[in-house]
Amino acid sequence: MIIDLHSHTTSSDGSLTPQELLTRAEVRHLDVLAITDHDTTEGVEIAKKWLQDHKLKCNLVSGVEISTKWHGYEIHIVGLNLDEKNTILQEALKNQRVNRQIRAKSVGEKLARLKIPNAYEEAKQLAGSELISRTHFAKVLLKRGVVSNFDAAFKKYLGKGKKAYVSPHWMDIESAIKVIHEADGLAVLAHPIRYDMSNKWLTQLVEEFSQFGGDGIEVGLSQQSHNQKSHIARLATQFGLYSSQGSDFHNISKWNDLGRGLSLTEHCKPIWTHSKWVI
Ligand code: AMP
Ligand code: MN
Ligand code: MN
Ligand code: MN
Repeated sequence: MIIDLHSHTTSSDGSLTPQELLTRAEVRHLDVLAITDHDTTEGVEIAKKWLQDHKLKCNLVSGVEISTKWHGYEIHIVGLNLDEKNTILQEALKNQRVNRQIRAKSVGEKLARLKIPNAYEEAKQLAGSELISRTHFAKVLLKRGVVSNFDAAFKKYLGKGKKAYVSPHWMDIESAIKVIHEADGLAVLAHPIRYDMSNKWLTQLVEEFSQFGGDGIEVGLSQQSHNQKSHIARLATQFGLYSSQGSDFHNISKWNDLGRGLSLTEHCKPIWTHSKWVI
């Protein structure tokens, strides 16, 4: 079984449309795919409509990735197996998108002061919707030759504490878990190894996430060492969390693809064995 529970489409900062993503999932022989765009379920809705006319082997899971703020860190919470029509969820996501717009405008102003004009307008055009991500700004900076590669855009301008960083107004972790549960979904702590925090902070994060009622944690990622995986698997066991796996797919690259290299460790409780899991 190939199961990938974390992916993005053009509805947020992914490069493939929902249709193209589903086609890719079929080519890659996926059995289960969750679409988890940042702060929107638009991609899920488009994919579901498309599936009404196209029969695929791959099962689609409705999901979302909600940005939250915790002690100054930006922590991502993935919601899986949820009802994307739920109004409480949709109101919360709408609010997040409004705050994204506000942040994006401020990022644009900071860049303009650094003699990089009209970046907000160009990022907005690239995004093609109200969902503007720092990914879009990074693409603009790369296209204009301000940076020589995508990562440098974060290292020099967009990453925490860098020249054009603007602290966003995201909901807190507890609220994200609450709205995901309101929509009958399961809440998963996304990519715990990527937060650039000490072990002490990470343990506290997982503990609080669990105390807030979080359901699972991403143990299986596409790019991580064996030690990183077993460390997170141990935290999952310690705090009674189910385990999830996902590629965090944004675009096809040398390093990542849908469903590639995903697995859990032996003692994990897979999130798809949770009593609330539907598919
Ligand atoms: P945002 O949702 O606007 O905060 O933008 C964060 C997104 O930027 C992530 O979901 C990633 O897709 C992308 N990204 C790429 N490299 C980095 C990085 N070094 N730090 C943070 N985000 C990154
Ligand atoms: Mn992203
Ligand atoms: Mn993320
Ligand atoms: Mn993601």
